[in-house]
Amino acid sequence: MAKTSALLATMKTMSSKHKVTRQRATRRVPASAGPADPQLIEDLVAANRILADYGVLDGYGHVSARHDRDPNRYLLSRSLAPALVTAKDIMEYDLDSNPVDTQDRALYVERFIHGEIYKARPDVQAVVHHHSPAVIPFGVTTVPLRPLYHMAAFLWEGVPVFEIRDVAGMTDLLVRSPALGCALAQTLGNKAAALMRGHGAVVVSSSLPGVVGRSIYLQLNAHLQAQAIALGGTVTYLDPEEGRRADPGGYQRAWELWKRKAMTK
Ligand SMILES: [Zn+2]
Repeated sequence: MAKTSALLATMKTMSSKHKVTRQRATRRVPASAGPADPQLIEDLVAANRILADYGVLDGYGHVSARHDRDPNRYLLSRSLAPALVTAKDIMEYDLDSNPVDTQDRALYVERFIHGEIYKARPDVQAVVHHHSPAVIPFGVTTVPLRPLYHMAAFLWEGVPVFEIRDVAGMTDLLVRSPALGCALAQTLGNKAAALMRGHGAVVVSSSLPGVVGRSIYLQLNAHLQAQAIALGGTVTYLDPEEGRRADPGGYQRAWELWKRKAMTK
């Protein structure tokens, strides 16, 4: 209880700090970094469609990429179901998640997940936030999500769980503010993914193909782990050393296939 009160007090301080930043930020429209590489935009559109094809994203959830011209900008669709995203829907944001040019378009309310992770993780070039049902059980029970399959070896460092109640008390579970995005980024730490209790997950990578591959195989590992546990007996997970050695990296070969299928439909 004392721990929760301390966290809530910290959150209150963080929140007021962020409010100042946000108010300042909303008074100015951030300058554009200039047009992003058309290849990056095309890959971001493909990432939206691939993740929808694989059921990682449904009508909700989103994927972003850091801007190739400026590390303090990122690219994310306007509020839209991922399967419907086209190049003209991609918008530019600063890291406080202010849009460069809204054109009166609706924005994702949880865009702060992306901005705050890009701030905290200079190594991250792409972020996915999804609500895949397969991962939910591991965020609401004491059973941790662990890699048991070499294609999900990137999970070898562990998958932390973000408990929004610890930092903000009773909410609608959505990451609606920079302060909540910052708290989520802190839970993620230097890991590849974090679960969000009763909500979904966030996955990061140094590339769009990487974050798409990680999102697909995180979901698959969750299905396989639930099946393995249901069989009974002892489950053998990857040893951290096996995980480190087997990390599949950028999923480049699969990316070419996924992208071609998604873009030729
Ligand atoms: Zn969400």
